[in-house]
Amino acid sequence: MTAPTTDLQQQLETLRLAYVDRLRQDLPALLQQAQALPETPSELWQQHAAQLMAALHTLAGSAGTFGLAQLGDRAKQLEQQLKHWLHDGIQPDVAAYRDFVAAIALLSRLSDTAAEIPVLNVSVGQQPLAATVYLCCADSALKEQISIMLDIFGYVNRQFTGFSALRDAVAMQRPAVVIVDADQPGAVAQLQLIQHEQKTALPLLLVSHKTDFNSYLDAVRIGAVGYYSRPLNTTELEAGVRKQISGAEREPFRVMLVDDDQMLAQHYAIVLQQGGLMVEILPQPAQIFDALNRFHPDVILLDVNMPFCSGPELAQLVRLQQSWLGVPIIYLSSETDSEQQLAALIKAGDDFITKPISDTALLVAVFARAQRARQLAEIMTRDSLTGLLQHAHIKERLALEMLRSERSAQPVSVVMLDIDHFKKVNDNYGHLVGDQVIANLANLLKQQLRKTDLVGRYGGEEFLLVLPECTLQRAFEVIEQIRELFAGLPFSSNEQRFFCTFSAGISAVAGSTAADVVIEKADQALYKAKTSGRNRVILAQSQTAG
Ligand code: GH3
Ligand code: MG
Ligand code: MG
Repeated sequence: MTAPTTDLQQQLETLRLAYVDRLRQDLPALLQQAQALPETPSELWQQHAAQLMAALHTLAGSAGTFGLAQLGDRAKQLEQQLKHWLHDGIQPDVAAYRDFVAAIALLSRLSDTAAEIPVLNVSVGQQPLAATVYLCCADSALKEQISIMLDIFGYVNRQFTGFSALRDAVAMQRPAVVIVDADQPGAVAQLQLIQHEQKTALPLLLVSHKTDFNSYLDAVRIGAVGYYSRPLNTTELEAGVRKQISGAEREPFRVMLVDDDQMLAQHYAIVLQQGGLMVEILPQPAQIFDALNRFHPDVILLDVNMPFCSGPELAQLVRLQQSWLGVPIIYLSSETDSEQQLAALIKAGDDFITKPISDTALLVAVFARAQRARQLAEIMTRDSLTGLLQHAHIKERLALEMLRSERSAQPVSVVMLDIDHFKKVNDNYGHLVGDQVIANLANLLKQQLRKTDLVGRYGGEEFLLVLPECTLQRAFEVIEQIRELFAGLPFSSNEQRFFCTFSAGISAVAGSTAADVVIEKADQALYKAKTSGRNRVILAQSQTAG
């Protein structure tokens, strides 16, 4: 286990000790509540019993989480007992009542027993690797062709001549991808040796002149995930590299936690963070919309019983807003009564996780749901060719950014970008090659812009970019640089090399103008760029480059 894990284990232990400390007050209070139950049936009895039941419910849900499983189980039994009396209208006789109070008095003994804290040993979301590519190539022309491509797309790349240098480098630091010229003598045996030394196979992309069955079979046997025949199509190779890297560089899943028990919420947060998830605890249900807009959770984890507003009420509230329709809401509750669970689900919400739950089970359950939710959201909002935001979604995100910039008074720049004479690309090389050009530009944009920038496919070969906290002048510099890179990116089709360019118009978000107006201004600037000769970037009128 790594150092940060130990650190988290320590945090969990600190939290557990704080919880045990809290029980020293909570359990005597519980006993007082039980002793104060009126002995004759009355409305007051009902009220007191309901309060006591709620307290037992909370205890049942939390004790197990902090390693006090016996205490949690016993609290659950007592809760059930009280529920039976309360809901079936049975008034306990004196003996039963005395036993009940005695059982509550005994709870504090269970809180003194040593905790059986399970050791966390699951790590689902591994730390992403840096986007480093190792290139091992004997053919110098091929090496140059590949390294130009890697440079243009901004991958960090290191080159090796010979397998022993590669082997040493891999042992020192594992790269995200390894590209190997498989026509070097002894390549298969050497790569087999290197793979053998890895815990998990290195993502290996091979380039070779050979296209026979046995060469492919060898590639599979040494764990290659891509095989590129020569003459090399660098666009395809780049797509292969991108696929490996985007898998490793996935943004951590975001989980929003709502639980009135802060200590329990903190425990869950630490467990989930330990598994590589990002967690935000919502302190006040009333802040939920702010928190959603800021945090964009993949999953909302919701307690059912909360004093200010219940879980199902909060879930219904979230569901009233179109924009959060896709976010799964999962109740995390000590409610084991399936009818109660169903009642909550019918109101709103997607699933139930029952407390207490082991740390590992919680992590796996939340991770799996977050992953699925992210996949579905991507499919719904992303363009399939480029992986960029679709038209409607980039506009929606622009509107959100504009609201944010109104509050923060930070500049936002908006870019409309269109490939020049793209019809000719399709006409000369075919639609598939045209698609590759679009995908490459999309990838170049993602590579060159910041994580916080938004990139959308606005139309066929038209892109809309939203650059938050970016002045017009800075946006101009950034897009100019991408324009130059793109113009230097060689494409190939049937051994024919060709180049493409794009034109762009940029406008700035000013005051409280509508999103459509800002887009329109950028579009007019784009039109100017087209009519004044293409392959250039123009700033919208009445907006200066500073
Ligand atoms: P301009 O420099 O004025 O932008 O010229 P252009 O040829 O790029 O302009 P125009 O908008 O007239 O043509 C765009 C072409 O892009 C038309 C359409 O067939 C093609 N196109 C649109 N979407 C796709 C796509 O997804 N894939 C491919 N291959 N072509 C597309
Ligand atoms: Mg065009
Ligand atoms: Mg167009």
